[in-house]
Amino acid sequence: MWICPVCNGLESLTYTCPQCANPVDDLGKLSDYDEPYSPYREINDMKLSNGYPDLVQHQCIHLLHCPNCKQEMQVALDERYVPDSPDQLSEYAP
Ligand SMILES: [Zn+2]
Ligand SMILES: [Zn+2]
Repeated sequence: MWICPVCNGLESLTYTCPQCANPVDDLGKLSDYDEPYSPYREINDMKLSNGYPDLVQHQCIHLLHCPNCKQEMQVALDERYVPDSPDQLSEYAP
């Protein structure tokens, strides 16, 4: 399965504000925000209409907040693959 390393505490988010270069706060993944007009849906639709659905797979959209500019932004983080079960690891064993 694919997991977001930031959501799972494997990595800390290191992203700076494009406006002021301040480190931003991570408010969590966008899908945690259950809004009817989720921006995540817009991103999905946009990529799909471009014919590149793969670009949005295995990415975790995070909502960020710059404490300096007081503005929110979204960034897509690459997820990483981890085997679902230990069985899959032994597949490569002799
Ligand atoms: Zn995440
Ligand atoms: Zn800023």
